Amino acid sequence: MAAPVKIAVVAETKGGAVRKIALEMLVEARRLAGAAGGSVGAVVIGPAAAGEAVRLAQHGADRVVHVEGAALERYAPESYAEAVRRAVEALAPEALLFGATGQGKDLAPRTAARLRAGLASDCVGFEWSDGALIARRPVFAGKAFAKVAFGSARPQIATVRPNTYKPAEPDPGRSAAVETIALGDVPVRGRVTAFEATEGGVADLTEANIIVSGGRAMAGPDNFEMLRKLCKVLGATLGASRAAVDAGWIDHSYQVGQTGKVVNPTLYFAVGISGAIQHLAGMSSSRTIVAINKDKEAPIFKLATYGVVGDLYQVVPALTEEFAKVLKE
Ligand code: FAD
Repeated sequence: MAAPVKIAVVAETKGGAVRKIALEMLVEARRLAGAAGGSVGAVVIGPAAAGEAVRLAQHGADRVVHVEGAALERYAPESYAEAVRRAVEALAPEALLFGATGQGKDLAPRTAARLRAGLASDCVGFEWSDGALIARRPVFAGKAFAKVAFGSARPQIATVRPNTYKPAEPDPGRSAAVETIALGDVPVRGRVTAFEATEGGVADLTEANIIVSGGRAMAGPDNFEMLRKLCKVLGATLGASRAAVDAGWIDHSYQVGQTGKVVNPTLYFAVGISGAIQHLAGMSSSRTIVAINKDKEAPIFKLATYGVVGDLYQVVPALTEEFAKVLKE
């Protein structure tokens, strides 16, 4: 008999394939389950995702519950929340993790409400204390961390900030017990009929590994082309400060910060961005921050790992050219 499931991960999928965030969470789930002497569960939802159980096993799941049904063909809040509830019934985990993605941020609170369980959002670390989970989450625009303990209800539910953990290499020797649950008919009040991608099919900023963001100093929409070139060379995703968004130079979906997206890349370029607290709220946990600003007193330099004091119109093209050379070699 396998050890009881200590911690389970809801593995979000896109086009039938498990997203990277699920593999990141499995790394932390393995560590937590190992520390508490339990096993790791994974929940995968939707007919297209049936083949992903092997991948989840190779990345650390001991048990996989696949919930299928016509109502699960595409993400729909009510049927997916019910699917997770059924999977939780089957796995009975002590803790349940969702990615802090658009979908996870919608699904986790719905699940918590259904299960009458507590939820900690946007977490960046976990530990056990007397058998209960303690979640660590940034507060006050990333200036401090709060440790959150849960009430007595189980599972203890948390969303995990993307890019906090690095996915493990798959272990082809690992396998998992797979169980399929048929959802059947569930009463739903709303039905999702289609998804429309945003213009230009922007990669999700919240999951991007490298981001190049432009601020007010871009001085107009055309100069963002320069940043797009740098993005292309680096395989990066474009972002922006609110000043650039409010000026109408770029769509709000690109905005990083308190009233935009919270991002957590390994490399963040702040180009012509002063470093207002509301911008920092969205990017201060980036692993490496490169600031390009002509004002050496700009607050962004206090946070930056590397600072370039200079005119972005000279620095960015020069950097793009050098990166292109180096990355070609
Ligand atoms: P600025 O502060 O004007 O900075 C421009 C910088 O460019 C300056 O440091 C300047 O030295 C530099 N510069 C100028 N020319 C050049 C050049 N040629 N080369 C190099 N550097 C140059 N902001 C966000 O970003 N995201 C949010 O989500 C957000 N939410 C907010 C919510 C609330 C409730 C409020 C009140 C504000 C919010 N803001 C947000 C706005 C925030 O306070 C700042 O106004 C905004 O971040 C400033 O954007 P910026 O750094 O691009 O512009």
